[in-house]
Amino acid sequence: ASGYTLLRDPHHNKGLAFPEKERDAHYLRGLLPPAVMSQELQEKKIMNMLRQYKVPLHIYMAMMDLQERNERLFYKLLIDNVEELLPIVYTPTVGEACQKYGSIFRRPQGLYISLKEKGKILEVLKNWPERNIQVIVVTDGERILGLGDLGCQGMGIPVGKLSLYTALGGLRPSACLPITIDVGTNNKDLLKDEFYIGLRQNRATGQEYAELLEEFMFAVKQNYGEKVLIQFEDFANHNAFELLAKYSNTHLVFNDDIQGTASVVLAGLIAALKLVGGKLSDQKFLFLGAGEAGTGIAELIALEMSKQTKTSIEETRKKIWLVDSKGLIIASRKETLQHFKKPWAHEHEPMRTLLDAVKAIKPTVLIGSSGVGKTFTKQVVEAMASFNKVSHRHDKQILKPIILALSNPTSQSECTAEEAYTWSEGRAIFASGSPFNPVEYNGKTYVPGQANNAYIFPGLGLGLIISGAIRVKDDMLLAASEALAAQVATENFEKGLIYPPFSNIRKISAHIAANVAAKAYELGLASRLPRPKDLVEYAESCMYNPVYRTYR
Ligand code: NAP
Ligand code: MN
Repeated sequence: ASGYTLLRDPHHNKGLAFPEKERDAHYLRGLLPPAVMSQELQEKKIMNMLRQYKVPLHIYMAMMDLQERNERLFYKLLIDNVEELLPIVYTPTVGEACQKYGSIFRRPQGLYISLKEKGKILEVLKNWPERNIQVIVVTDGERILGLGDLGCQGMGIPVGKLSLYTALGGLRPSACLPITIDVGTNNKDLLKDEFYIGLRQNRATGQEYAELLEEFMFAVKQNYGEKVLIQFEDFANHNAFELLAKYSNTHLVFNDDIQGTASVVLAGLIAALKLVGGKLSDQKFLFLGAGEAGTGIAELIALEMSKQTKTSIEETRKKIWLVDSKGLIIASRKETLQHFKKPWAHEHEPMRTLLDAVKAIKPTVLIGSSGVGKTFTKQVVEAMASFNKVSHRHDKQILKPIILALSNPTSQSECTAEEAYTWSEGRAIFASGSPFNPVEYNGKTYVPGQANNAYIFPGLGLGLIISGAIRVKDDMLLAASEALAAQVATENFEKGLIYPPFSNIRKISAHIAANVAAKAYELGLASRLPRPKDLVEYAESCMYNPVYRTYR
């Protein structure tokens, strides 16, 4: 290949980092200015440039340009500056990018499969340049973050999520395939927008939708085999639950909005027990919001309690209550409930408001997952604090209210960290979906944790891939939660944190991967044999490293 082609190939380009020898060997003389820069210096230069941008979307665009120009440098930046760049390549900035995708769109990233490709999906997959795919993230764009239906412009999400699979979980970039399925959009603004890049029609539903997805799922399996991980992302809940249930027995599928969220929240709760004492089954849970996040979390908590106490899941579910837009979910509503809410319809009198439900149920754990902000009012938090006080009923048990405000973005958070700490007189154990700064209260500093899905899915994905798993089971999610909770150190707990610092994420991912892989072997679902002895070491050795390679 010519030097000119090499410089334009993002997988191999090193820019000014090509050393003299390689400039000679690969016909690069004259195509580059004389200076030779190390990758570290290139990284420093680009970070300096990014930090001058005032608008996060501009940083996003510069990062996308870098990804297209020099992939290894892009991942080096992302790994070394993960806390700074995560909010750019993923939520919240990626959401804005999706909203404006039509106008910032330059070159397609990922694969578009629309109704036009019906009957030809296998051929479409063959157009993708890479053959060895390990992870696909797919969306139909109907519920992008908290932004609703963005149709075909949802592509930013699979692209962003996969860059995290690589940066945080160490999957090879060439093994990752972002896909957007376009069945139309019900977003009226997009349908009118002359720059809209997707199909200009209302969403196909029912059989037409199901058939396209069915063709897609089987084309993927036919083309890439049994061991490719298909991650569903940002589907509306009416499709999300159904797709997951439908394909979990025939494919390696995972839904991050349901299962990833559940796993990361359960990890936080397991860790929180170190601060409050007692067992998970000593807790009583109340959720505001009974959708993908809420019912997914509830189900995994119930499963963990049922394993720990060796009782049936029907029994442990009774410790968990949910409130949706119509009030407390109770038995008398059962007839009209969506199927994923039915397991939570316990006997109780109707409760219309969250405050009434809190006072009636007296939960020890309150979880917000409705997407509606400011719903954990002063009264709600004070009520939580009032019946979760130091108790002598159980030895060693220090009762503190556990309050998780998961709704995103920050403006939709159920309450702020400061509100949670002040209204509970510093006793709340608080974590949130969107990040909050540390809070000073009565001379003490409290550091709120962030229940970020990015703690779990990269390590989970790595664990599935390195073990050659062929199905995702809930036990693997529990294994991921336990591994994450075990990464919280004493010094983190002392600040009130129930999640470990994100800067250690590659190490955290390796531990999660090892625990997930161990579970896959235990369940007989791992196809990579023999089982490596030290799975943590093996996971680390499999991780993609973005340092430049030397070319001969
Ligand atoms: P979803 O499937 O649409 O579910 C939303 C639920 O909230 C529904 O049960 C809905 O009730 C209920 N709800 C809406 N408005 C309400 C109100 N005013 N009062 C009471 N309940 C109300 O959404 P999702 O995917 O679960 O996401 C929900 C939120 O969780 C989003 O803000 C998302 O950003 C956040 N989230 C956070 C994390 C994280 O922290 N790691 C992960 C995932 C999601 P009906 O069923 O009656 O309509
Ligand atoms: Mn999502």
